[in-house]
Amino acid sequence: MNDTERSLNFIEHIIEDDLKKGYEKSDLRFRFPPEPNGYLHIGHASSICLNFGLGLRYNAPVNLRYDDTNPIKEEQEYVDAIKKDVEWLGYQWDSECYASDYFQQLYDWAVQLIKEGKAYVDSQSSDEMAKQKGTPTESGINSPYRDRSIDENLALFEGMKNGEFEEGVHVLRAKIDMSSPNMLMRDPIMYRVLHKDHHRTKDTWCIYPLYDWTHGESDYIEGISHSLCTLEFAPHRELYDWFLDQVREAPKLRPKQREFARRNLSHTVVSKRKLLQLVEKGVVSGWDDPRMPTISGLRRRGYTPQSIRKFADTIGIAKRENVVDVSLLEFTVREHLNKIAPRVMAVLDPLKVIITNYPEGEEEWLTAENNPEDESAGSRQVPFSGELWIEKADFREEANRKYFRLKLGGEVRLKNGYIIKAESCTKNEAGEVVEVQCTYDPKSRSGSGTEESMRKVKGTLHWVSAIHAINAEIRLYDRLFTDATPDAHKDKDFMEFINPESLEIRTGYLEPSLETAKIGERYQFQRLGYFCVDPDSTDTKLVFNRTVTLRSTWAKLDSAQ
Ligand code: ATP
Ligand code: MG
Repeated sequence: MNDTERSLNFIEHIIEDDLKKGYEKSDLRFRFPPEPNGYLHIGHASSICLNFGLGLRYNAPVNLRYDDTNPIKEEQEYVDAIKKDVEWLGYQWDSECYASDYFQQLYDWAVQLIKEGKAYVDSQSSDEMAKQKGTPTESGINSPYRDRSIDENLALFEGMKNGEFEEGVHVLRAKIDMSSPNMLMRDPIMYRVLHKDHHRTKDTWCIYPLYDWTHGESDYIEGISHSLCTLEFAPHRELYDWFLDQVREAPKLRPKQREFARRNLSHTVVSKRKLLQLVEKGVVSGWDDPRMPTISGLRRRGYTPQSIRKFADTIGIAKRENVVDVSLLEFTVREHLNKIAPRVMAVLDPLKVIITNYPEGEEEWLTAENNPEDESAGSRQVPFSGELWIEKADFREEANRKYFRLKLGGEVRLKNGYIIKAESCTKNEAGEVVEVQCTYDPKSRSGSGTEESMRKVKGTLHWVSAIHAINAEIRLYDRLFTDATPDAHKDKDFMEFINPESLEIRTGYLEPSLETAKIGERYQFQRLGYFCVDPDSTDTKLVFNRTVTLRSTWAKLDSAQ
């Protein structure tokens, strides 16, 4: 199903309706508005795919807008990371915009509101203001400063801008209605004093506009037609419209705020604030730790942009919040990697196999197909010798008839190679098997055309020639949290559900073709899963991340043991 064939979502219905009611296609303009206070996560991917998807569907521009009004939490590092992630997902913005570029315009409009008697400087403490707010069923109380003269308000506001006051002494509030049933309409704060340098405007400003005052006006300045945000902003819509009505000049359209449900993913948290805690407390190695649900973490883990876009498309957008199971995300990446990832052999938990009838000191190079799903992927040569590694889990001294891996007296085929038979094994003092002695059938080589090469045996194992194998560090990841919804518990902090075993490091034995693997390249380690080369790799040491395991084809076999 391509994008234009699927049925319209409710946001698209709203747009179609607007087009019928007089909007021109050329009026349509969207934006993705992250605050640069952290790295983007998989929840943001939904918003990115929604907004940029609308841009593609309606051939309309989409701005990347940084909502950078809080210098306490925002940093250039985050600005750069956000850009990189949106680009990597495959989207192109029309303009790169910053709310901070509108500080002067916002200030001028605020002065205009003061002059029209629609804003005033309040000099109470935040505690006092909170006490006067009332409750949803009880009106608030007017501030004693509400009726300050326009001249006094103008002078104080200018003083705030010029740095004459400490933080918290004065704020600028909109004069709306302290008895509005919508608490947000009860004289919301527009500006506060913050003596903090901003990552872009440096020390030019020491007053900063708040979200509600900034967001709609930024949309208006950029000519955004539909401003899409998550549901928690639904009660803000009235204020969004009120602010716009104060500054809008006919015939310019008033941008429309519409809301959709936040997307949550199971076994993780999708909140920059919480993800920052994981980084700061050292639970993970950074924002791009492959266990993080950030776009950069998923990229490092081996996810493809296509799989993340497919995931966002598959879950679509909704009017109600819910939790999407992480297995759906894993499914989409598995499906894509199955098509594109070259197959290779690697052994992660090695057991030595000696082929006793293989000529000593000999080796040969076998032809192996790179990707059965993609003929154009070609083939490669894999070395075979009398000394091999197989997985420990692939050998048992004894097992019932349903065990199709290697057992004493039994046969298996080595992938791309020969049929071998286990004759005996050696154990260490602890009774663990440390070596299996096998014989091979020299005529059974895969693809050699002999009758024996066609001979079917039940099990096929992956393997690596021990003398040719290269070593690599293999990082196996499990879920970062043991609970499906770690931040949904009233009595427990999400940090209590951290999975202590979310990372396991192994030394893997890899076929030598991987020697030249480059950072970011993705492979299927046959029978094990999808892996990609981590940026921690150096010229002398390869590091692989497990992106995701294969669909468990072992489940049936294992249950039969
Ligand atoms: P966080 O709590 O993680 O900081 P946020 O909403 O404060 O999230 P913003 O940078 O303000 O983060 O978000 C940019 C855009 O992405 C907003 O339009 C926001 O509504 C949307 N967004 C954020 N999180 C999600 C999510 N989990 N699902 C869908 N959209 C989201
Ligand atoms: Mg936010």
